[in-house]
Amino acid sequence: MSSQPTGGQPDSKGRIKIVHIYPREMSIYGDLGNTRCLASRLRWHGYEPVVHQHHPGNDFPADAHLVLGGGGQDSGQARVQDDLAHNAGALRALAADGTAMLMICGMYQLFGNAFITIEGERLPGIGVLDVTTQGNAKRMIGPVVLDTAYGDVVGYENHSGSTELGSGQQPFGRVKSGMGNNGTDKTEGAVTGNVFGSYLHGPLLPANPSFADALIRLAVERALGEPFVPGHVDDEIADQARTRQVRRLIG
Ligand code: GLN
Repeated sequence: MSSQPTGGQPDSKGRIKIVHIYPREMSIYGDLGNTRCLASRLRWHGYEPVVHQHHPGNDFPADAHLVLGGGGQDSGQARVQDDLAHNAGALRALAADGTAMLMICGMYQLFGNAFITIEGERLPGIGVLDVTTQGNAKRMIGPVVLDTAYGDVVGYENHSGSTELGSGQQPFGRVKSGMGNNGTDKTEGAVTGNVFGSYLHGPLLPANPSFADALIRLAVERALGEPFVPGHVDDEIADQARTRQVRRLIG
C-alpha cells in the first residue's frame, strides 16, 4: 500500500493520485480525455482525484497511484526520449509494484522494447511490455472493436507502427474489427500485471466505463489498501455510444 496524503475532502473515500506523463508531447486524438474521464469517475464514485502532470526534466513522482500516457507523432516520441530514459527505473519499479497504468499508442510503443521509425531511427523503450514496433509507410487508421476481459471495447486507431508481441506476452484484446497491433495476428495492445498498452484513441475510456472502473479499482485498492466501493454512476450514454459503434462495425 502506498503512502496516503493527509487532508483532502472530509467526505471523500480517499485521495487517488493520477499522473499524466508528457501531456504536451504525447497526447493526440483526445487522449487527455482519459485523464479527465478517470478524474470524473473517481469523483462520481466518491473518491478525491489529484491530477499531476509529469513534464520532461522532472523526477517521476513515486507516489503515483494511476499513470496515463497518450499518443504522439514520431517527433514527439523522440522529444521525450531522454526523460523517459532518466525515469525508466522509477516507472519500472512502479509497474513491478502493481501501479495501474494505461499507455496509448506512442507511449504504448515506448513502454515496449523499441520503436523503429519509418526512417529507421531506433527509439528505445523501457521494456515494461514485451512488444517491439516497426514503423511502416501504410498507416493503420480507423474505428476498432475489441473483445477483452472487460467485454467489447471500442476506439479509434491511427498508427504507422506495426507491433509484434514477444512469446508469452498477453494482448489487451482480440480484434473484432480494425487492424490492432499489426493487422495480421488479430491481437491488440498488451497487458503485463496492471500495465495496459493499447492503440485505441478516442479517448478510449469514456465509451468503455467497465474498463475505466477496472483501472480505478486497481488504483484504489493499491492506494488505500481496502476494497473499491463504487458509487452509483449512470453510464447509459456511454453504453449507447459503444453499442452503436459495435453494431455499425460488426452488426
Ligand atoms: N508515432 C507512432 C506511430 O506512428 C504513434 C502514433 C500515435 O500515437 N497515434 O505509430
